[in-house]
Amino acid sequence: METIEQMIQKKAYELGYEKCGIIPISLMKGYAEKFEERMQKVPESRPFYQGLQRLVNPLEVYPWAKSVVVLTVSYGKYKIPEEVKGHIAKAYLFDVRVDTNTKEYQNNRALEKYMQELGLKVETNQKFGVVGMRWAAMQAGIGIIRRNNFLYTESGSWVHLEAWVTDREMELKETNNVPQCPKGCNRCMASCPTKSLSDPYTMLPTACVSFLTTFGGRNLHQEPLSKTFGGCIYGCDICQDACPMNRGKWKGEEEFPGLAELAPELTPENILNMEEDFYREKVQPKFFYLSPEELWKWKVDVLNYMRNNYMESYKSLIINACNNENEKICEMANSICNELCLQGRQNSI
Ligand code: SF4
Ligand code: SF4
Repeated sequence: METIEQMIQKKAYELGYEKCGIIPISLMKGYAEKFEERMQKVPESRPFYQGLQRLVNPLEVYPWAKSVVVLTVSYGKYKIPEEVKGHIAKAYLFDVRVDTNTKEYQNNRALEKYMQELGLKVETNQKFGVVGMRWAAMQAGIGIIRRNNFLYTESGSWVHLEAWVTDREMELKETNNVPQCPKGCNRCMASCPTKSLSDPYTMLPTACVSFLTTFGGRNLHQEPLSKTFGGCIYGCDICQDACPMNRGKWKGEEEFPGLAELAPELTPENILNMEEDFYREKVQPKFFYLSPEELWKWKVDVLNYMRNNYMESYKSLIINACNNENEKICEMANSICNELCLQGRQNSI
């Protein structure tokens, strides 16, 4: 007869999850130690990580929790539209956490319902997680955490993680045959444009392009690191793209719902000209790290991209942005006009 753990895992496989493991909640204790270690290694990261304390001590939030069900679902199967390739990080392009049109989102809901029907009390947080998910996945045997801090399975690092805490004592380890990082490899660290990733298994999150172009970096025109962002507009995949363990792992065979239609609207020029209504309706619900009021931040990110990848065709767009009613867009555009000596700048900062 199947155990309840096996039933959950079987259901997860039927729904298309790549891996499903279950660990006792006590195995999350090691995460708290790693967390402290990280903050000690990079003291400047402490304020950032302290904001994630709820993931370190899940029992404070869910005192009834006895186990964690953790799963991966691969997104390397999706086609990346040319317009956004290298500019918007892949995890955000194929974000299934809030996109109700995706089968992955629906599967998440179906698995939760199934566990409830089995009599379990369960809780998840689709957007931000209920536990440190990479740690939980490693404890559950799903994969390994590499020197660039990402969890890798046989699909490389191109996997989304999902987790539930449950009120039942359960354990079911997954298996993986993911090899360790090759001895002496440091390609991820060498590739990091901001040196946010300067040592194995650690980083300074507030210097990461992904942070600075999404929910951080509110004063990009004064941020010296912004000149190193290269082709990145929103998020960064550089340390994953550089990793030899990701070679050949991106399949790019399937269309992601709605992305081929949306991608032409996400060119640098079109983002800079984007109307608020369009942003609120079509863009923000997908890229939820920026709020419905923060189209300006996308525009600042694009201006930064235009400065870093300057072409003559950007000139009039940058000059026009000097008169934008939003102060941050104005500041960024003026700073670029000054720096690149573009004619027609209107205001000095
Ligand atoms: S995501 Fe980009 S900026 Fe962040 S650590 Fe990796 S390479 Fe560095
Ligand atoms: S680039 Fe090398 S060191 Fe970095 S995660 Fe990949 S295999 Fe490991």
